[in-house]
Amino acid sequence: MTRSGENGIPRYDVVIVGAGHGGAQAAISLRQAGFDGSIAIVGDEPLLPYERPPLSKEYLAGEKPFERILIRPPNFWEERGVEMVLGRRVTSVEPERYRIVTADGMAIRYSKLIWAAGGSARRLRCDGHDLQGVHTVRTRADVDRMIGEMPHVSRAVVIGGGYIGLEAAAVLAKFGKHVVLVEALDRVLARVAGEPLSRFYEAEHRAHDVDVRLGSAVDCIEGSNGKVAGVRLAGGERLAADMVIVGIGIVPEVEPLLAAGAEGGNGVSIDAQCRTSLPDVFAIGDCALHANRFANDVPVRLESVQNATDQAVVAAKTIVGQAVAYDAVPWFWSNQYELKLQTVGLSTGHDAMIVRGDFSARSFSLIYLREGRVIALDCVNAAKDYVQGRKLVVERIIADVALLADTSIPLKALAS
Ligand code: FAD
Repeated sequence: MTRSGENGIPRYDVVIVGAGHGGAQAAISLRQAGFDGSIAIVGDEPLLPYERPPLSKEYLAGEKPFERILIRPPNFWEERGVEMVLGRRVTSVEPERYRIVTADGMAIRYSKLIWAAGGSARRLRCDGHDLQGVHTVRTRADVDRMIGEMPHVSRAVVIGGGYIGLEAAAVLAKFGKHVVLVEALDRVLARVAGEPLSRFYEAEHRAHDVDVRLGSAVDCIEGSNGKVAGVRLAGGERLAADMVIVGIGIVPEVEPLLAAGAEGGNGVSIDAQCRTSLPDVFAIGDCALHANRFANDVPVRLESVQNATDQAVVAAKTIVGQAVAYDAVPWFWSNQYELKLQTVGLSTGHDAMIVRGDFSARSFSLIYLREGRVIALDCVNAAKDYVQGRKLVVERIIADVALLADTSIPLKALAS
């Protein structure tokens, strides 16, 4: 392993920016593929790579300590010869000089660069967005601040009815807080799921005393003495709050790459080997815009652990010279109350939807079709459907609608 320096500037064979899911997996996969060059991971959080999904689930709920959500034990990185450069934010990429520079002026040279910087939580822009007690849920530090305030919170407003907002609402409801969930559209999960699933989750939250407000826009956050006191809706209503959680999506962290001339926009564009348009610069994970077979080859950014880790594997294998292309079926999960949702495929663009199973039994699947072919499944407490339906999605199977809906027929019987 080598880490040579020139003019005092450290140089690594591979520099990975971002110590999250994608960055960690890229280093792991490089070593698994036999790469024995030097590797450094540069991350702006002062922490070893950890899993992000528990932040709105078990970690927020106090059910898992931080040590149990580390992606690998602390000694793993040193043992594998992966240098961690933590607490440093990369602010520029200089592709002609093959180097990056951090906010505090540290330059690092690379032979190959993997950009795995994810995204930052989108913030509200209205008055009061920066009051104490207004939170986003992206990092451990975000959630630790929430946990610290929790004993003094009796009323919370969650803004955004996507997965993160719903998961946070479920935890707060479980803690016995009075929770109002405010969603601008006319249903929760509108961006990612069919209407029956939205209505099911809306009903579940209401059954747990979450006050779900649909079609409600936020006018501003109100405070007193610098602390949040309430949320004013566009219609004039005021919701009292000691805590506000904002879950309205992310902004991809790609500014330094785009400023260096990389192609992109809402993310940085990559090809099937995760290469950006800059020489020897790869990008993976939440920040990477890629043509996806499961989205009809339309460029998409996927925000999932699956996508980040699978793209990391592709970038690592490409770097060691293996022929590989990204073609993984997207999958995702969400845990709320006693409900385990597992999704496979992408339902965007579906022209038909089948309900398989019983909503009242709280175990069912939604199967999405386009032109008669299965393109995605959302499975609620239906792990068998999820496992067996995967093949239907991967192979774009044309199946009889009545058979798909018949729970007495296992999905694997339709997959051949
Ligand atoms: P990240 O894991 O976000 O890592 C990027 C890292 O880069 C971060 O540490 C960031 O601080 C750092 N960084 C950013 N800019 C710079 C810079 N300029 N210089 C240095 N470092 C930088 N996915 C699922 O599949 N299932 C789930 O249930 C699920 N739940 C989630 C719940 C929450 C609360 C959140 C926030 C996400 C959840 N996700 C879930 C999404 C999943 O966590 C992400 O898709 C995944 O983390 C993406 O990995 P990544 O490597 O692209 O980015």
